[in-house]
Amino acid sequence: MTSHSFPTIRQFIGGEWTDGTGAATEAVLDPASGKTLSMFRHASEADVATALEATDRSAPAWRATTPDLRYRILREAASLLRQRAASAALHLSLEQGKPLTEAASEIQASADVIDWYAEEGRRAYGRIVPGRAGSRLMVVPEPIGPVAAFTPWNFPATTVARKLGGALAAGCTIVLKASEETPATAVAVLECLAQAGLPPGVANLVLGQPARISEQLLRSSVIRKVSLTGSIAVGRTLGHLAVDHHLVTTMELGGNAPVLVFNDVDVDAVARICAIAKFRNAGQVCNVPSRFYVHEGIAEAFAERMTAHARALRVGAGIEPDIDMGPLCNERRLLAMEQLMDDARRSGARVRIGGRRLDRPGFFFEPTVLSDVPDAALVMREEAFGPIVPIATFSDVDGADAIRRANDTAYGLGAFVFTESLARATDTSDALEAGMVGVNTVVLSRAETPFGGIKASGHGHESGIEGLEAYMRKKTILQHAPLRG
Ligand code: NAD
Repeated sequence: MTSHSFPTIRQFIGGEWTDGTGAATEAVLDPASGKTLSMFRHASEADVATALEATDRSAPAWRATTPDLRYRILREAASLLRQRAASAALHLSLEQGKPLTEAASEIQASADVIDWYAEEGRRAYGRIVPGRAGSRLMVVPEPIGPVAAFTPWNFPATTVARKLGGALAAGCTIVLKASEETPATAVAVLECLAQAGLPPGVANLVLGQPARISEQLLRSSVIRKVSLTGSIAVGRTLGHLAVDHHLVTTMELGGNAPVLVFNDVDVDAVARICAIAKFRNAGQVCNVPSRFYVHEGIAEAFAERMTAHARALRVGAGIEPDIDMGPLCNERRLLAMEQLMDDARRSGARVRIGGRRLDRPGFFFEPTVLSDVPDAALVMREEAFGPIVPIATFSDVDGADAIRRANDTAYGLGAFVFTESLARATDTSDALEAGMVGVNTVVLSRAETPFGGIKASGHGHESGIEGLEAYMRKKTILQHAPLRG
C-alpha cells in the first residue's frame, strides 16, 4: 500500500454504505507506482439484486418529487463537491494518474454539470399542440424510469456526474456501475448526493465483475434505460442486451478525432493549443484531437512545434508538484501504445520524439510525436487513447482530400478544423462526419451543449437540453371535453 490516505471503497445500496458480499476482492492501483491504494470486495449477485429492488422501490416517490426539490438536492450536492474539491481531486489523481491541476478542473466541471442538470430539470417543458376548440392535445415529458449507468476510468468524475445529474434531475432512479479502476471518485460524488438529502435507494453504486453486473441489471425487469460511456466493444454488448430487453440507450463511445490544419493559421498558436489538448490526461480522452492532417506548406513547422512542446513536458506522478503529464491509467494502455508504435515504425512513420515506455515503476509512456504517418497506420485508424501525436499532410488548398481521409473511419465523435477563412471553416465543419466539430478550438465539452457521437462512436447526448431529454419519454395526451347526451 502507498503512504497517501485513500478512502475506503464501499458499495452504496439502498442508502447504506456496505462492503460487497461477493467472493472476489479487487485492488485499486496507483498508476504512478503500480502499488495498491486500496482493496475492496465485489458486489455479489444478491447485492446487485438489492440495488435493483432499492431503485425500483424508490422510483415512484422520486418521480413524484417536485422539480424544485430535485433542484435543491442537486445544487447542494454540487456545492458539497466543490467544498471537498481538494480531497476529491487528490484521490482522483492518485487512482487515475492525471495531474492534480487537471483532477481539480475535472471536479469543478463535474459540479458545474450537476448544477446545469439541476437548473434544467425545472425547465423540462412539454407542449400543447393546436386542436379543435375545447380540446387539448398535449405532449407531456415523464421520467423514463430506473436507469443502469456504466462509466469509464478516464474521466471518473465528469462521466459519473453527467449520468447521475441527468437521471436524477429528470426524476429517474439509478444504479451506477462505475469503473473498478477509479472507484473513489464515484464514491465521493455519491457521498455528496447522500449528504445533500437524496432519499435512500434513489442512486446506488455497485462495483464488481462488469460483464456479470451489466447482464444482471439489463436482464432485470426494473431497468428502463441504459447509459454507457465506454468502448465500442462494450457498447455493442450492452446494445444487444438492450434490444433484447426493450431498453432505451445512450451510447457515448470511443473516438478518433481528425484535426485539419490549413495553411493560413498561426502555426505556433495552433500547435501549442493542440499539444496541450493532446497530452492532457496523457491522451486518454475520447474527444481529444487525435490524427492530424496538416497542409504541407506548414507541416514541418507544425511538427517541430509539437515536438518542442512534447520535449518540454514534465512527466511524473499526478500528485507531484509542477508536472504536466502523468502515467497512463493502467498496464493495458501501455501495451496498446507499444503495439501502435511497433506498427507505426513498420509502416514508415518518422519518430520525432518519444515512442517508448519510461524506465520507472508505474505505467508511464513518453510524450510522442510522429510525422509522415501513412493513413494505413494503426495509429491513424484506431483510437490511440494515449500520448501519441501522428501527423500526416494534405496538399490541396480547399482540404477536400483531408476531409475525405478524415471521414474514412467508423468513428464519429469529435473533429477539429483550424483556419482563418470563414468559408473554409463553414465548408469543412459542414462536411466532417462527427457529432461535434471544434472550429479554432480544442474544447468540445460544455455543460450547456449536447455532447455525443455518430457512427460507431455512439448515439444520444449528454449535457445540454438533450442530456436531460435523454432521461425522459414523451406521453401524448389527447383530451376532449366530457361527452354529453
Ligand atoms: P469500457 O467499455 O471497457 O468500460 C466502460 C464501463 O462499462 C466500465 O464501467 C465497465 O466496467 C463497464 N462494463 C459494462 N459491461 C461490461 C462488459 N460486458 N465488459 C466490460 N466492461 C463492461 O471502457 P473503458 O476502458 O473504461 O474506457 C475507455 C473508453 O471509454 C474509450 O473507448 C473512450 O473513448 C470511451 N469514452 C467515451 C467517452 C464519450 O463521451 N464518448 C468519454 C470517455 C471515455
